[in-house]
Amino acid sequence: MKKYKIILTLLLILVFTSIPVFAKNNIVVYIDGNNTEVREVPVLMNGKPVYSDIPTYIHKGSTMVPIRFVAEHYGAKVDWDNKTKSAIVVHNGNNIVMTINQSTVEVNNKLRTIDNNASPKLVNTGGKSSNTVVPLRFISEVLGYEVGYDEEKGIPFINSEEMEPEVTEGITDISMIGNSKIKVISSKAMEIDHSRNGNIINININNISLENKELLNKRISGDQISDLRVSEDGNNLSINVILDGEYDYNISKSSDGKEFTISPMTKLQDIKKETIEGKESVVIYTGIATKVNRSSLSNPKRFIFDIMDSSLGTDYKEYNISFEGIKNVRASQFSPEGIYNANDKVVRVVLDMEDNANINVKENNGNIVITPTIDNTINNNQNNTNNNSDNQDKGKEQETNGLSKILKYSLNGRISNLDIELKKNTSYSFNYNENQKTVEIQIPKKNLDIQAGDFKIQDGMIDSIKVTDSSDSIKITVNLFRKLNVTDLNNGNGESVKIQMEREAIGKPSDRIIVIDAGHGGLDPGAVSNGIKEKDINLPVSKKVDSLLKQKGYKTLMTREDDSYISLGGRANLANGEAADLFISIHANSVPNSSTVNGIEVLYSGNQNSKALAGFIQEELIKSTNAADRGTKHRPNLVVLRDTKMTDSLVELGFLTNSEEAAKLDTESYQNILAEAIVKGIEKYFTIYD
Ligand SMILES: [Zn+2]
Repeated sequence: MKKYKIILTLLLILVFTSIPVFAKNNIVVYIDGNNTEVREVPVLMNGKPVYSDIPTYIHKGSTMVPIRFVAEHYGAKVDWDNKTKSAIVVHNGNNIVMTINQSTVEVNNKLRTIDNNASPKLVNTGGKSSNTVVPLRFISEVLGYEVGYDEEKGIPFINSEEMEPEVTEGITDISMIGNSKIKVISSKAMEIDHSRNGNIINININNISLENKELLNKRISGDQISDLRVSEDGNNLSINVILDGEYDYNISKSSDGKEFTISPMTKLQDIKKETIEGKESVVIYTGIATKVNRSSLSNPKRFIFDIMDSSLGTDYKEYNISFEGIKNVRASQFSPEGIYNANDKVVRVVLDMEDNANINVKENNGNIVITPTIDNTINNNQNNTNNNSDNQDKGKEQETNGLSKILKYSLNGRISNLDIELKKNTSYSFNYNENQKTVEIQIPKKNLDIQAGDFKIQDGMIDSIKVTDSSDSIKITVNLFRKLNVTDLNNGNGESVKIQMEREAIGKPSDRIIVIDAGHGGLDPGAVSNGIKEKDINLPVSKKVDSLLKQKGYKTLMTREDDSYISLGGRANLANGEAADLFISIHANSVPNSSTVNGIEVLYSGNQNSKALAGFIQEELIKSTNAADRGTKHRPNLVVLRDTKMTDSLVELGFLTNSEEAAKLDTESYQNILAEAIVKGIEKYFTIYD
């Protein structure tokens, strides 16, 4: 979590810098007509000591910095009014006017009083002229920076980075891709090293933790992989992948370092001409390939099969296969360029073809069966080739984006549209089964270029779209989440299939599903401060929101109803699986090293709807609590918000690190006020965004 990172950074700085040298450095400065002994201190700014030619010092408990410090390190605009002896500091929409020797300060046109010892002074630190010094803590707080003081070391510090509570960092998922590849996903970049000992691949990742603690119990097995173990050791993590043989393996990392995959490598076994189901075919015996990417090239015409995570055992090989439009078959250990990562291991198999030849491809136990066909009906070879490369492109896009150019799906408010592009005017069958909540479309195979597949949508309207391939037709099944008004806009005949699905005009609370997510829980307490654990505030407030919504007739679901641990991904999955309308996550805030920061904020990810929801909840919360209004913030990378597909908000009820706010948060009466305000915000949202 970010807050741990800040603390850790500070600890490291305290360990690695020779602060005590400064801490005892007393100097004499000339203040208010007297020589005064003060303690010179550096200021740690984001963990780094800041120096200036005019010393920063502590006098009677206040850290004073030259006004130049504010300009240089906060980027503030600083003006000096010599007539009134006032400094004017303008930054981030704040305007501070401070006058020499005065404890009354003007902040954004309001008067505030500061400690006498903290009032701005003219001091002479031994140079020819005097300098204006101002109180570090007051200015920092007004400008919105964290400021603190390390009692033990006697040093003030500032964090000018934006506070990002609740941003968790670490490994979020370890999962199987296909049957023989493991993917590790983290919310921050990972530094990995790896080694093999017999059947075991050992991967070490330094300075990372498990964001999802359930991964400690994760077990994975599949082709070539018999087990996986995850263990944490301090700041480091180790992942052992146990193979069922001494295979070579490949690790490839995403460019941002946040993902890597471990793939046991297979060796391409052979490519042979064989008769399969009575047809002469080329069979690529991949030796259990993880993935095969297909593409095609024209002039001369070639079909290409890139077998991922595979080795050929030699640089290049020809197979001397030629029949029925296939001129030659060759394979090479392909040097990735552009489309693959530099360290990907790819075997590229190329079929050199006659221009009028095509292929049918089937997969059989991980092996690839290619049956050539000669197309005698189309005389225009150029046209034929173009068509083919098009098909390949579409297939590829389908693999990467879930849906393709041929099959398009989009959601807009209460209406979603499914468009299927056909090769030419075609009659198709359309059937909506309201009870089973399925829409089935059957299209003659010859008029539709699409590969079989299952696409998860989970947008509150539909769950998935399934494409199945039978001998002469393609069936597209749309699994709905709820009863919808479904219209076949082209009435069973056209150059495309256009299906419109509309949610019935609602307005009844009973048609709404709201998931309430009480943050943290179980072994994860969330923020802990002033003797209060965040999880113990989040839960009662969530329960109150839940029961208020239920009273009003809404359908609700809580991610946890007791003190149990649920992973962030698990929370999102629950909401996605229920086709919820809203996802409301409830948290309390904290900020390291500052007891003064307080107030309420609502975070959101995603679209305008989420922004609006966050705004309504924030507005109601501020209205009923009078807490400091920290506004709404777009945080697309918070795991629970990022992974939920519906309109979402994450409410930060207040700061546990502020003792006053913490005490309030711990009372039932304040919790009631918060819950009622959240519900009001939700209701307001529904009146506008139906
Ligand atoms: Zn939290």
